This record gives sequence, C-alpha cells and structure tokens, in this order.
Amino acid sequence: MNKYLEQLIELSTLDKDIDDFGPRIAKVEKMLKISLDKEKEFKSQVDTLHADIMDAKLKKGKNEVHLAELSSKLKDLTKKSALVKTAKEVKALQLEEEISKEQCDFANEEIVRLDKIIDMKQHNIIALQEKLAEAVSEAEEIKKSIEEQMQHIELERKNVYQNKDELVSLMSQKILTFYQKIRKWAENTTVVPVRKQACYGCFMRINDKTYASVLKQDDIITCPHCGRILYKEIEVLIEA
Ligand SMILES: [Zn+2]
Repeated sequence: MNKYLEQLIELSTLDKDIDDFGPRIAKVEKMLKISLDKEKEFKSQVDTLHADIMDAKLKKGKNEVHLAELSSKLKDLTKKSALVKTAKEVKALQLEEEISKEQCDFANEEIVRLDKIIDMKQHNIIALQEKLAEAVSEAEEIKKSIEEQMQHIELERKNVYQNKDELVSLMSQKILTFYQKIRKWAENTTVVPVRKQACYGCFMRINDKTYASVLKQDDIITCPHCGRILYKEIEVLIEA
C-alpha cells in the first residue's frame, strides 16, 4: 500500500478517536449528574417535610393557646352564672357557654388532626432518609468508578495524542494540508472505505477506472463525487 495512504488512514482513525473522547467524557459525567440529582431530590423532599412539621407544630401551638383561653372563659362563665338573675341573662350565658364548648371541641379535633400529620410526616422522613442514605452511597460508588474511568480515558487520550504527534511528524506537509482541507467539511469521514464499489462517504457508486485504482492502492484516490479519500477495506472473512 502507498505509504501516504497508509498514514492518512491511520491519521483519520486517530482523529476520530480524539473526537470520540468528548462524548465519552460527557456520558460518564452525565451518569454522575443523574445520581447527584437523585440525592438532591431526596434532600429537598426531607426539607419540605421538616418545614411541614414546623408548620403543623405552630398551628398546634396556636390551638393550644386558644384552648387555654377557652377554658378560662368557661370558668368565668360558671362564676357569672351564679350571679345572673333573669331568665334572659341565663339564656345568654348558656349560649355563650355552648359556643365556647364547640370551639373547644374544634380546637381539640384540630390538635388530633395536626398530631396525625406530624406523625405521618415524621415517618415519611425516616423512610426518605433511608433512601437518601442509599442514594448517597450510590453516588459515592459512581464517583469512584467515574474517577477510574476518567483516568483511563485520560491515559488513552494521552496515548492517542502522542501517536498522532508522532505520525504527523513523519508525514509530508503537502499530504497533511490536503487531508486537513477535506477534513474541514468531511470531519470524521475524510478517509472512507470503498464497499461494493461505492464510496462510504457519499454512498455513490464509483466508476470502474477509479475503483481499479483504489484496489491497486498505489496512489491516493479521491471519490469523483464527493472528494473524500478512498481506500480498499481489508476484508474480514467470516467462516460459516
Ligand atoms: Zn464519495
């Protein structure tokens, strides 16, 4: 095979590897983000529950104060009832007493209701804290695995760049410029194989003459339709 063509195939493979690092790193980072988001979500749910409990306790306190007020009011009414004389006054006091007792019942019901809410939310917090602990340890594991993966990718990247530097230093400037000019628009399909007599960049059939030249591999041949560099793919025979 033509030496320059060989270099171009290698260079295009290295460039493709370099371009692949970005998405690979993004994928790894996304894994961590999903896990951290989950952790954050549980934390915010716990915070909301704590706030709800605070709120319920505050309401309960208000009801307790109200109950104390009602109780002293009822005592006053009992004292007053000993002093009243007319039937009208007795009736008025009874009415007031009834209303106060109703209010007492309501406040007591509210306290029971709020206690239930506080109890339920506290149970929810316990359940959530278990989930949160799981999420935290999961995130830790992912972080550890990601660090390993990133180190691995870094090492690979260093190697690929080193290989590219070495290769580029061996290549002729003219060939390199030619390659870079095509790569500007063709990106990772600058150097493509020919399969079934078709360019694997534009997928157009190439004529017999060009095809014969590609098969010979003596020169650098470009696709007559799109201008990408063509090469004969080494066929991998799969035995049936
Ligand atoms: Zn083409």
